Amino acid sequence: MSQTLSTDVLIVGGGVAGLWLNARLRAKGYATLLVERESLGGGQSVKSQGIIHGGAKYALHGALSGASEAIADMPRRWREALDGSGELDLSGVRLLSDAHYLWSPGTLAGNLTSFFASKAVRGRVDQVKGEQLPPALQNPKFKGKVYRLAELVVDVPSLIARLAELAGDSLLAADDIQPLHDNDGQLVGLRVDGREIRAQRIVLSAGRGNADLLASLDVPQPAQQLRPLHMVMVKGPSLKPLYAHCLGGGPKPRVTVTSHPSADGEWVWYLGGDLAEADGVARDEAAQIDAARKELSQLLPWIDLSTAQWATLRVERAEPAQSGFVRPDNAFISDQGALLVGWPTKLALAPDFADRVLSHLERDGIRPAAHPALPELPRPVIGRTAWETAF
Ligand code: FAD
Repeated sequence: MSQTLSTDVLIVGGGVAGLWLNARLRAKGYATLLVERESLGGGQSVKSQGIIHGGAKYALHGALSGASEAIADMPRRWREALDGSGELDLSGVRLLSDAHYLWSPGTLAGNLTSFFASKAVRGRVDQVKGEQLPPALQNPKFKGKVYRLAELVVDVPSLIARLAELAGDSLLAADDIQPLHDNDGQLVGLRVDGREIRAQRIVLSAGRGNADLLASLDVPQPAQQLRPLHMVMVKGPSLKPLYAHCLGGGPKPRVTVTSHPSADGEWVWYLGGDLAEADGVARDEAAQIDAARKELSQLLPWIDLSTAQWATLRVERAEPAQSGFVRPDNAFISDQGALLVGWPTKLALAPDFADRVLSHLERDGIRPAAHPALPELPRPVIGRTAWETAF
């Protein structure tokens, strides 16, 4: 097949980062093409917990870090988009919860109590009691403190479906990607499944696929780090929706619970946090389910899990390499001439990722140009959730 196409911005990778960027660029009049090898959102995005962090989780040491300041505006931007009044029209995307909660099973460390009551977090972290508690915690046996965070939880499959709609005819299902150079050896596009696609700029937003793509384009930087997780899924008729970080002693949540609807009307609880990190990664599936079962029966003993179904999911978060393996604070973009490559590092930071690409385009004077209409192209499918496949 030899077909030559041209566009302003060629995006590789149709997770939340690539799709959000694609929709923003199209709204600004840029011609775009987005290439996806497997399924839209099917990498990390539909495996995420869908929390639109505002930074409170990162403040568990009792102080706002750089991360929390940078991310603080994300809930507002997402809320406006979900209302149809923001930078993208995401009205129709299902909001799973208007708030995420912090829940401490015992007494809260003194420094956190005063921090959560302080001016620094007012309106972002408020204590709730009684009927304001999340339904799963409304039980006489529940002891502990619960704080409502001004963060949202979105249904990622419906988000991805809406972003795919906003992509119009710009999506291309394709597998093989090779560099396309001009006579001077400058990168001017990509050869995608035999089609020559010329573009003013190329953006790699392929999640963990960025590393292999960079290698095939012979670009040594930026380096990538992978953060393995071993998540647990539990599905059962007795589960009520719960969106909460349960605090342990340390700066990371002991367990993070989000709840997702399944086709038969039952809820699936998706468990992350410390449970899914280092020790959890080292456990095999049976031991990980056992650990999760013990954790839930200790924390929520009134919930009947006797008929629940269990499964686990291994997945890796892809991020730019950081010294000390720390979690990056913002979306990350690296500029390699006509090639931009990056990771949002969080679903919540997809708008920040798009901002950073847009500011590179502006800096370089890249404007929408005229291009011939696109032919009909093979369209990638939308990714399925892990619970759809597991149960
Ligand atoms: P991906 O979603 O991985 O998309 C990359 C796409 O590129 C994939 O579709 C892949 O098929 C495609 N691709 C790869 N290679 C190629 C190639 N050569 N050619 C074409 N296409 C290619 N963040 C939050 O903000 N809140 C949360 O609650 C949250 N929870 C999480 C829970 C888990 C278990 C995990 C793993 C992550 C979580 N995250 C969360 C992080 C968030 O999911 C990611 O930061 C975000 O989804 C990354 O989006 P992306 O578009 O960069 O990558």
